[in-house]
Amino acid sequence: MKFGGTSVGDVAAFERVFGIVSSQLDRRPVVVVSAMTKVTDALLAAFEIARSGQAEDAFSSLEPHFERHLEITRRFEIAESSPFHNELTYAREELADLLKRVSRRSLPLSMLKDAVVSYGEQLSSRLLAEVLKSKGVNARQVDSRRLIVTDDEYGSAQPLWDETERLIKLELAPMIADDEVPIMGGFIAASRGGETTTLGRGGSDYSAALVAAALRANELQIWTDVTGVMTCDPRICSSAVTIPVLSYEEAAELAYFGAKVLHPKTIKPAVDTNIPVRVCNTFEPNEIGTMVLADSGETPNKIKSIASKKNITILRITSARMLGSYGFMSALFQVFERYRTVIDVVSTSEVSVALTLDNTDSLEQIVTELSRLGEVEVERGYAVVCVVGEGLRESTGLAAKVFSTIADVNIALVSHGASSVNLTFVVKEELAAGVIKKIHRQLL
Ligand code: ASP
Ligand code: MG
Repeated sequence: MKFGGTSVGDVAAFERVFGIVSSQLDRRPVVVVSAMTKVTDALLAAFEIARSGQAEDAFSSLEPHFERHLEITRRFEIAESSPFHNELTYAREELADLLKRVSRRSLPLSMLKDAVVSYGEQLSSRLLAEVLKSKGVNARQVDSRRLIVTDDEYGSAQPLWDETERLIKLELAPMIADDEVPIMGGFIAASRGGETTTLGRGGSDYSAALVAAALRANELQIWTDVTGVMTCDPRICSSAVTIPVLSYEEAAELAYFGAKVLHPKTIKPAVDTNIPVRVCNTFEPNEIGTMVLADSGETPNKIKSIASKKNITILRITSARMLGSYGFMSALFQVFERYRTVIDVVSTSEVSVALTLDNTDSLEQIVTELSRLGEVEVERGYAVVCVVGEGLRESTGLAAKVFSTIADVNIALVSHGASSVNLTFVVKEELAAGVIKKIHRQLL
């Protein structure tokens, strides 16, 4: 069971986590928890302040966050002699020291940064364990840095699977057999040499998936603040509902359209070991949410979800040189690589390429370089609309149905077939909401 930062944001949130964990004790859960909301950001900000030479200011900027943790201990009447209080004392000393080192640059900064930022999860996991214990749950905090082994790519370390799997089993299996509930911090890990590393922002889902996979759990539950994945944005369409089942491929296609959907990379360990991933809402614990399966094995003919993203720019590159030549695409994509710009949708003809970007920070330079390859047109103010469903793979006529529903709308770009579960097209921004409503009404 993974709980995100908002699920442990305040006293009421901790109460809800207790309710959810205690209602599933017979399923023998392992709990993975993120830092309390805003704490990771605060630690990163403190790191930056220290980097500019202000180690003391950096440390005092964390005081309100230490206080938030203490407020929880008071409300749950956790004694000042508790392991959490020890941990907090230690964390303060360590952080003061680390931030001084940052200001003096006495160790590689990337290494210090992970050490600093890891305190969010170290504290939240210790605190959650104490809260659960105070309410009678047989919980025990386990330091994730002893279980998850990574390379030493600080800030976005890659887990070393074989070692990680072995350690998780070795450490957690006996606890679970003893009816203990292990409480681990997400996001944090350690390199082979024992240095603290982190798995990248939002990495707690990844930690949870690693644990689920190593233990061959029956289910991975990702507890967040929305009820699963919806058929479309409820702000656009009030009739949007939660999708009961998504295939991994469908979930991956939807991931681009918002933080509310799981990042495909983070749940891959669970999907690879065939463990169902359920996205649940801490505020509505009795609703079942969305289940993501390796293969949803579901009825064809169905569209599952419509997602969209606004503020999209289209680039069209036209060049006679492209016809019958090779290497042209490669030269073109290299320009985007140089400016670290992500391309979302691509469509090509014999003499032209159209593509979309949502980050236009380097647009000017990109256009200048592309002009050496051909004629470039830039069109702003578009929206990408993406219709997702395994049904698009097999059922004849489903794509035609989508387009006939919106026959009166001018479509600037279409992409279909790269992933057979999605149909993506681009329309003028101001038309997007209408298009989505229509398709939702007709096909969902
Ligand atoms: N606390 C980390 C972050 O904010 C990891 C997580 O929340 O998953 O990125
Ligand atoms: Mg998060």
